[in-house]
Amino acid sequence: MHLISRRTLVAGSLAARAATNAFAQSQPGSTTSKLKIVVTGGHPGDPEYGCGGTIARYADLGHEVVLLYLNRGEKSCPEKSPNEGSDVRVPEARKACEILRARPAFAGQCDGHAIVDAASYEEFRKLVEAEKPDVLFAHWPIDGHRDHRAISMLAYDAWLRMGKKCAFYYYEVSDGEDTLMFLPTHYVAISGTESRKRAACYAHVSQAPDKFYALQSQVTRFRGLESGYAQAEAFIRHPQSSGHWLP
Ligand SMILES: [Zn+2]
Repeated sequence: MHLISRRTLVAGSLAARAATNAFAQSQPGSTTSKLKIVVTGGHPGDPEYGCGGTIARYADLGHEVVLLYLNRGEKSCPEKSPNEGSDVRVPEARKACEILRARPAFAGQCDGHAIVDAASYEEFRKLVEAEKPDVLFAHWPIDGHRDHRAISMLAYDAWLRMGKKCAFYYYEVSDGEDTLMFLPTHYVAISGTESRKRAACYAHVSQAPDKFYALQSQVTRFRGLESGYAQAEAFIRHPQSSGHWLP
């Protein structure tokens, strides 16, 4: 075993981190062609809370953004009618997408009953592949909610099966219970789009936005402190990603 002192390790990792951050912050919206962005999320609201400011920036640059939700926010599905809950959550999701100038899409699973098996991997890959994404976003897999962990696996598998042909980023939905152990490699400043992100999150009226937006705001302010912005959203870029950078 090759032993390395803690100081060397820390110094090395800090230098690498600083270089990564500087690189991340220096990347502008570096393409003039129209991109397809697919942001996957366990429930209506997850992409908006985790990366709504970044989604708005992509849309403002003229890119097409799809929010692909694993379920429609049904309650007690599948024991009860699949429409229960979705009658409220789907209109909220459509309103949020309208605010962010994104398009909603639904993978058809049930809230709290996520299935990850061979058939689900295949089904989800087909949905993602049909969108032909240039950039794919997914939940970070270390998360307290099983639906978030499930869609993280489904999205990652889809990216692998598609030959890693697009950029792949993990995002965080931190309220102290969901995303944990998240060490960002990239940041997007969201001060210019925070008001639209807020409006999109508040479109999810049934989901206690006063409580959850306040928590998510703490996260974006902290990520801003980390990266030198007033407010920022943070991401982990898969090192084998192809192509495009953040907006
Ligand atoms: Zn969720």
